[in-house]
Amino acid sequence: MRFDLLTLFPEIFTGYLGESLLNKAIDKQLVEAHVHNLRNWANDKHNRVDDRPFGGGPGMVIRVQPVVEAIEQIRPLAPSPGRLILLSPQGKTLDQPLVEELAQEQRLTLICGRYEGFDQRVIDLLHPEEVSLGDFVLNGGEVAAMAIIDSVIRLIPGVLGDEQSAVDDSFSEGNRLLEFPQYTRPREYRGLSVPEVLLGGNHQEILAWRKQQSLEKTRVRRADLLNKPSDDPNENKR
Ligand code: SAM
Repeated sequence: MRFDLLTLFPEIFTGYLGESLLNKAIDKQLVEAHVHNLRNWANDKHNRVDDRPFGGGPGMVIRVQPVVEAIEQIRPLAPSPGRLILLSPQGKTLDQPLVEELAQEQRLTLICGRYEGFDQRVIDLLHPEEVSLGDFVLNGGEVAAMAIIDSVIRLIPGVLGDEQSAVDDSFSEGNRLLEFPQYTRPREYRGLSVPEVLLGGNHQEILAWRKQQSLEKTRVRRADLLNKPSDDPNENKR
């Protein structure tokens, strides 16, 4: 899968792209990431990518011209442009079903905002999908873009050491529940013991215990997930 990132602060991605899981995925040629500096497309005499808002008010707005021309160059329409995403607190909230959809793509282009955000004509001309991390405001879209990359690459076959990890994860396709509690050595710490069932080696019992724990945790913390309609088309046939 190929990611193209358009940002005013390319250096923010430098450390992140070297992070071990992503770096390994890049080495294995499962993932490609290209970071583009929006300033390279600024064409006025001061190389400005932002300007004061018409109508007044605080802050600066990212100009339409550099963004539109950058995207036209970065993202050729043929043969497969993939999805164009603009990070925005006003967008659809990122969740696991959306991550699973994005992981099916060959290519994602992510536009990161700053300051007061974008001139509205960026959206009117490019028609990106606006995606939000949640109902709060970040200083820039880079952290949100990393959240998309991080969650999407986990689902690309070959990226995780053990593919079952992503299947068991909270919110994942097939159950959409919170994951069961996990334990590792030592068996006892400060009077707290690992549940006996996990030490017995009976896989059926372990599966049943995990399922029950997962349901109970979800009921207590996120009952809303239990009431959501299933997205599994085969569910009613079972
Ligand atoms: N004035 C904008 C508003 O009220 O909608 C917020 C601008 S914010 C300070 C600057 C940039 O950070 C945005 O253009 C966007 O790219 C990014 N950003 C901020 N909050 C975000 C969120 N919750 N999810 C995704 N991106 C976000």
